[in-house]
Amino acid sequence: MQQHYYNVIIIGGGISGTALLYELAGYTDLDSIALFEKYPALAQINTNGRNNSQTLHCGDIETNYTFEKAKKVKRTAQMLSNYAIRHGYGGKHIHKFPKMVIGVSEEETAFIKARYERFKNLYPYLELFTKEDLAGIEPKLTEGRKEDIVAMGALDEYCAVDFGAIAETFVQNAKTMAKGVCDVHLDAEVYQIDKLGDKFQLLTPKGKYFADYVVVDAGAHSLLQAHKMGYGKEYACLPIGGSFYYAPASILNSKVYTVQNDKLPFAAIHGDPDILVDGKCRFGPTALALPKLERYRENTYMEFFESLRPDKSVMKVFYDLLADEDIREYVFKNMMYEVPGIRKGLFLKEAKKIVPTLSEKEIEFAEHVGGLRPQIIDKKEKRLLLGEAKIDTKEGIVFNMTPSPGATSCLGNALKDVELIAAYLGCEFDEKRFKSDHMDEEEAMSQPYVMPGFAASAS
Ligand SMILES: Cc1cc2nc3c(=O)[nH]c(=O)nc-3n(C[C@H](O)[C@H](O)[C@H](O)COP(=O)(O)OP(=O)(O)OC[C@H]3O[C@@H](n4cnc5c(N)ncnc54)[C@H](O)[C@@H]3O)c2cc1C
Repeated sequence: MQQHYYNVIIIGGGISGTALLYELAGYTDLDSIALFEKYPALAQINTNGRNNSQTLHCGDIETNYTFEKAKKVKRTAQMLSNYAIRHGYGGKHIHKFPKMVIGVSEEETAFIKARYERFKNLYPYLELFTKEDLAGIEPKLTEGRKEDIVAMGALDEYCAVDFGAIAETFVQNAKTMAKGVCDVHLDAEVYQIDKLGDKFQLLTPKGKYFADYVVVDAGAHSLLQAHKMGYGKEYACLPIGGSFYYAPASILNSKVYTVQNDKLPFAAIHGDPDILVDGKCRFGPTALALPKLERYRENTYMEFFESLRPDKSVMKVFYDLLADEDIREYVFKNMMYEVPGIRKGLFLKEAKKIVPTLSEKEIEFAEHVGGLRPQIIDKKEKRLLLGEAKIDTKEGIVFNMTPSPGATSCLGNALKDVELIAAYLGCEFDEKRFKSDHMDEEEAMSQPYVMPGFAASAS
């Protein structure tokens, strides 16, 4: 018989929701949990490997992360790679190949050298590569390049992840480890959530369901759900699309990131081998504000306006962003990268910073590839927040908004939710076993996990 009551219901079958299902099933004594996903399969939106950059962001080559942010993401990235290796997914869903960030002007090369000195103790495997080293490691970076180039990076670290496949494994492992009921309802959109006494009632196409605690991991839809229930009115959602360009796989063997312009709110483009499409490498993502909550569904325009809730504070954030000449140029350029006919030539200029000899005939716009980052605007502070955000109502429901590096941080973000759930419901959480399964000894002994949110994002 179908069950209609659960201790905890998770909304959203991307990597955030499935990671939470895995942690609750494997490491708490809860005996009835469920996940609801609106599509017929898991991980169809941003978690799908086609739609994100497939990078395990651990902070070593992301120059838009401060040292403090890097320490935090290192911890959560390590949880994901330890999980994957422990379960035998190395070489299957998580891959090793060279990774680096390059500096190409005098200013950038000095920056990379200084950053290497500051970060090398945090990441002992990091190396500094000269132009001669790079000619051997990744020849296309130096061919035809007149100016100097240096890079910091590593040759043999796990750095590329099929986040969609990992989400699937979270569900398989949750079902194996669960002590009681662990249901996954597909094709089950949650239309409405209401608090009735001390329970939550969820309306779905399959009927009404009830829970003591609800976690909304619905990506760009999380804030909309919060607004519908009267929470998070101080936030608005600005969805930023990211497109990619394909090139032949022979162009790059490594993940190659570029130095971030600090003024720009979104990460600089990178190039890397596509782990899901044979024979291709990708350059991107671009950054384009789009008036919808799902990249490839036109019927989410209205939902966009409901979750943006434009008012004076939102307009002030837009005004401040666009008042800066560099940002205006960046926004305009990124719009042009989508316009058929001219986009290839324009994007090529950007990609040539990585591969100087790249030609227009070697690149093609990757159709239907790239998702949307649900960036959050703090209306009170009148600023764009970067990184993940959480609305903890302290009333038995939590809403997670997860732009990059949300996929990398999924186990760390879920851990925070497990702690909130354990405190609210009074259930047991075997933190010691969780840490010993997912963290290196030194990390497990260090200070408690702090959510990395509201810092710079990378994709
Ligand atoms: C271009 C781009 C590049 C990126 N690159 C990286 C990267 O390299 N590394 C990294 O760590 N992160 C990256 N990210 C971010 C990463 O993709 C996201 O942080 C992550 O996928 C978020 O996972 P999620 O489960 O929270 O959301 P999603 O994957 O969006 O999943 C949300 C789920 O909720 C479901 N849902 C929504 N509403 C309902 C409802 N009412 N009822 C039931 N189900 C519902 C959706 O169908 C969906 O399956 C990138 C993002 C973009 C857009």
